Amino acid sequence: MFLTISTTGTPERPATDLGFLLHKHPGKAQAFSTSYGTAHVLYPEADAERCTAALLLEVDAVALVRRGKGKGRGGAPDAALAQYVNDRPYAASSLLATALSGVFSSAMRGVCKALPERAGQPLPLRIEVPALPARGGPDLVRRLFEPLGWAVTAEPVPLDLRFPEWGDSRYVRLVLQAETLTLAAALRHLYVLLPVLDDAKHYWVAPDEVDKLLRAGDGWLPEHPEQKLITSRYLSRRWSLTRQAMERLELVRLAETDDSEVEEIDNAVGAETETEERPTPLAVQRREAILAVLRQSAAGRVLDLGCGQGQLVQALLKEAQFTEIVGVDVSVRALAIAFRRLKLDRMGERQAARVRLLQGSLTYTDSRLKGYDAAVLSEVVEHLDLPRLPALEYAVFGSARPRTVVVTTPNVEYNVRWETLPAGHARHGDHRFEWTREEFCAWAGTVAERHGYDVEFRPVGPDDPEVGPPTQMAVFHKKSDVKDKEAKAA
Ligand code: SAH
Repeated sequence: MFLTISTTGTPERPATDLGFLLHKHPGKAQAFSTSYGTAHVLYPEADAERCTAALLLEVDAVALVRRGKGKGRGGAPDAALAQYVNDRPYAASSLLATALSGVFSSAMRGVCKALPERAGQPLPLRIEVPALPARGGPDLVRRLFEPLGWAVTAEPVPLDLRFPEWGDSRYVRLVLQAETLTLAAALRHLYVLLPVLDDAKHYWVAPDEVDKLLRAGDGWLPEHPEQKLITSRYLSRRWSLTRQAMERLELVRLAETDDSEVEEIDNAVGAETETEERPTPLAVQRREAILAVLRQSAAGRVLDLGCGQGQLVQALLKEAQFTEIVGVDVSVRALAIAFRRLKLDRMGERQAARVRLLQGSLTYTDSRLKGYDAAVLSEVVEHLDLPRLPALEYAVFGSARPRTVVVTTPNVEYNVRWETLPAGHARHGDHRFEWTREEFCAWAGTVAERHGYDVEFRPVGPDDPEVGPPTQMAVFHKKSDVKDKEAKAA
């Protein structure tokens, strides 16, 4: 596995600055041992006019397999054999990308102590990868690199030079050239796009891969026309991670783009990604389940408490039954995104009269929330610290007192069924807790009892015989208005 990075220089800016930028001295060959082999950095040429750094990765196939086993992947017997008999040691692939980030980590972050200002400046770059596995061929290679400012040469490598009639292999010889990119940007492009082109599922995709992708994609991925393919392939087509990444990229873009693009982004996120597993996303199933309850309860005036970015509010607006919809959230940023999503500023008067977005915290009683037919708390309670939960309980069930309350929350028992969730981890970094079915039932039962509601439970998503559904939902109905009348009299 082999990759070279070259630059040209001038008397004021010698090409050998590349050595400073990469934090690797051009005068010596260096070797770094990694968990799957040895990475060598050497300079085949280094003078003021031209300088080339080469990264050579010597893969230890046996170590690679052992490492895999050690992490508990195991896999099918045929897959085990494929791990020994493959092209790994010869082809540039995600291991090369991993080596790049290990060996050139400061350069990738754009940090250079010796020449701090040079690190942020573009320089003439030529990158060559003689044998790059490229599923999708030269055409995809161009679609990935050209939008980033690279001039791309991607020549298919024949399967066997002696037998041209055998056709091309899945490798290309790749040459990238640019004058307008920084070294850091170039390295980050390679770090993401080499594994995307390789598209082999040979390493475990952990949830922190989403963070790595977004960090390396900073400044270019949110705008890339092939963003969806890149995200999906990079995350080995794990639909839940892909969706997570797409949603976060959506946030980045929303912060930077104007409203006309919101719709486009929504379509992209809503559309199915290039995945092998294609279930209906859980968020969609949840929304459908909530809408079904609200329709059934003949609610007209509805609160969406902790409305986030307004997806449910948007769905409610589409149905005439819901005459007044109020979204409440503590996060101004979430509300701003909801505002744009709904195009509140450009809505006709009659539509606009049906919807309001309020900023407020659900742990304080709020007289604006009284007198509604229904309230939804969709994936909200688990974002509160447990000791704050009684305050929310009182604000919603004691003070606002809608006729119907729908609460959804993750079922922690189901977490073992998520392919990519390590045992004992919550689904979202901001979840303060996740409940078992028993814990949720106990909480909901007590709340109902205390405030004069009946409660029933409904599964959302596939109801696993052992661990239950991924989302649990409680539907509360107020028993009578006696308490309300008492409250009014007081
Ligand atoms: N209901 C949406 C969003 C769930 S994320 C959905 O189902 O997709 C949880 C939301 O609750 C976030 O938008 C967060 O800002 C909001 N939230 C958390 N604590 C809150 C509080 N104390 N008061 C109001 N909103 C809160």
